[in-house]
Amino acid sequence: MNETPRSERLHIALFGLRNAGKSSLINALAGQERSIVSEVPGTTADPVYQAMEILPIGPVVLIDTAGIDDEGALGLERVKKAESVLEKTDLALVVLDAQKGITTFDQAWIEKLEKRKIPFLLVLNKNDLAPSLDSNLSFIRTSALKNEGIGELKSAIIRLAPQDRLEVQIIGDLLHPGETVVLVVPIDNSAPKGRLILPQVQTIREILDSDCLAVVTKERELRRALENLKSPPRMVVTDSQAFLKVAADTPPGIPLTSFSILFARYKGDLLTMAQGAKAIEKLKAGDSVLIAESCTHHQQADDIGSVKIPRWLRQYVGGDLRIEHCRGGDFPDELEKYQLVIQCGGCMSNRQGMLSRIMKSKAAKVPITNYGVAIAYLQGLFPRALEPFPFIHAFFEEEE
Ligand code: SF4
Repeated sequence: MNETPRSERLHIALFGLRNAGKSSLINALAGQERSIVSEVPGTTADPVYQAMEILPIGPVVLIDTAGIDDEGALGLERVKKAESVLEKTDLALVVLDAQKGITTFDQAWIEKLEKRKIPFLLVLNKNDLAPSLDSNLSFIRTSALKNEGIGELKSAIIRLAPQDRLEVQIIGDLLHPGETVVLVVPIDNSAPKGRLILPQVQTIREILDSDCLAVVTKERELRRALENLKSPPRMVVTDSQAFLKVAADTPPGIPLTSFSILFARYKGDLLTMAQGAKAIEKLKAGDSVLIAESCTHHQQADDIGSVKIPRWLRQYVGGDLRIEHCRGGDFPDELEKYQLVIQCGGCMSNRQGMLSRIMKSKAAKVPITNYGVAIAYLQGLFPRALEPFPFIHAFFEEEE
């Protein structure tokens, strides 16, 4: 519980041939023997995640993947799993076997990275076994087993780490020191016993980091909490499911949004998600909607993704819709059959994972929105829920 959640760590994935030394490199970078290293090619089956700190970047997760030249039905399955890691990769290390040079497999993988605009480094491992290899390409030469070149590799990772990924904030950039934010956190059957959920905790932490006050209340006590404040808060942030009541109890001059909308911006692209919500207006009976959740949590009786949003959508459209769901890491390659994708807040996904889904939806020309923005739209709170984000709010005001 004291560790940075995986979704908040920079995702650094290692790709390369079987036995190129990916696991050994991870061990050398982590300075400990955590991954099981084998001389038998093809040991790493499912992607293996190892958390560590790389200063000054901070918390990262290194992802060990199966060999990109794996063979046979099972091997191809493993390559597919390695390929799915690309969806969440912030920075890639292409580990080349110095004894083999750069192979057609490596070349094809580099093209995949270039196509997806994922920054990458070429790491020529086992340099001690083939020190005379010449090439025009720019490599970082390492020998994971002899612990050579590891410092240089770390420095190169630090130089290449995507800065925009490290600078994105949940709420801190919207606040000035000394301001108060009121957070509305319903405690009902769907709330985990004895604790708050991750997006709530992360938002509180960022408010405190911004030298601001966080007032946390349930929706029933919101009115009293606002009356007790000597001056109006900078904004009210609510769980989407209490939006209507909270909007009714929050005076119009106080900006109001939801955790899910904050996370649509933090994890992805709020403007795209807000534009996507407008597609709800064009939905008609018989259309197909994909509801995508980034985890496989236990479904509650009145679950937001499988029960409430489908119900609100059907009521809004005034007819039946074909609603499909995908959960966890699954996200269909073929999106063209849908008229809309509605993505959850993605607290268990990293930013790159969410951006990949947005890119896929855009490529298929299918609008994508997220739970918070869609709920605000369905409940008539659009664009009020976008007021705290001046650029986005102005965009829709101009459109009206
Ligand atoms: S469904 Fe999405 S927002 Fe909800 S817990 Fe899972 S990852 Fe987080």
